[in-house]
Amino acid sequence: TKHTGRNGYHFFQPSMNTFAQQQLQLMNDLWMAVERQELRLHYQPKCQASSGTIMGFEALLRWEHPTKGLLAPDVFLPLAEKTGIIIPMGNWVINEACRQLSEWRSQGQLEWSMAVNLSALQFEQPMLLDTVLACLERHHIPAEMLILEVTETTAMHNPEQSVEVLTRLTELGVKASIDDFGTGYSSLLYLKRLPACELKIDRAFVKELKGEGEDATIVSAIVALARTLNLRVVAEGVETQAQLEFLTQLGCNTLQGYLLGKPESAEAITASHQKAG
Ligand code: C2E
Ligand code: CA
Ligand code: CA
Ligand code: CA
Repeated sequence: TKHTGRNGYHFFQPSMNTFAQQQLQLMNDLWMAVERQELRLHYQPKCQASSGTIMGFEALLRWEHPTKGLLAPDVFLPLAEKTGIIIPMGNWVINEACRQLSEWRSQGQLEWSMAVNLSALQFEQPMLLDTVLACLERHHIPAEMLILEVTETTAMHNPEQSVEVLTRLTELGVKASIDDFGTGYSSLLYLKRLPACELKIDRAFVKELKGEGEDATIVSAIVALARTLNLRVVAEGVETQAQLEFLTQLGCNTLQGYLLGKPESAEAITASHQKAG
């Protein structure tokens, strides 16, 4: 502290200049991001392992920050979740993903599904069901073309409630996917009761996957579990041909990762999938 005479002291807190202040600034910007139309979606394909056919896309959020450029979700999602901004932001994501899917459908891509990530807070919002239904109706999307991805951790946080929410969503016809599987702690009892259509094996198990070893054993176990529960298995983060081959051998039906396609803008995807005629 520095003495400034009769009026007292100035307290210098250099730490306030760094992380806390940056977060505060980011929070201010974040509140405006939806209104200022700075949010973007990139889309990454989910492909059939056997044929490479695109089954659909996963919408991944980006923020075109006025000065910092294109930001990935890990920079701002935790803050959005903590402040509740994730709710209007997440509503925007659901609507925009549905709008984009309907555009692709009008271009003849009737087989493509659209997967949207839900945060824990969104998942617990009673309004979620109405939001989803309104977006499907607004954009004339068949409910079964929409997949909602919820992480294992979110789903198992309050499993009783998750069963209820997912049951109501699937009653609409929407599909549910358990994301980042293997990183949380699933109760098999609840996993059995969750009306999901797929498990997504977390990238952590794919990263150093070899034909044998611990990760291969874990992947096989998840595939076996999924078979028993009648779920599709998606492996994420597939970057090499070797990984693709191991995963296919181990029985993963669907693959996602840079090898099959990086997340791209809708325009880029539209351009590379022009249908003849
Ligand atoms: P996620 O749902 O597990 O998505 C996969 C992440 O891995 C994405 O990162 C994707 O770009 C990245 N990825 C895909 N393939 C590969 C690969 O082959 N190698 C590597 N190294 N990475 C790969 P991204 O886009 O930065 O998103 C990070 C996380 O942010 C997502 O993880 C998801 O949990 C969350 N997220 C993204 N968009 C949204 C959203 O609209 N709403 C919510 N609530 N969460 C979102
Ligand atoms: Ca996901
Ligand atoms: Ca994931
Ligand atoms: Ca992840």
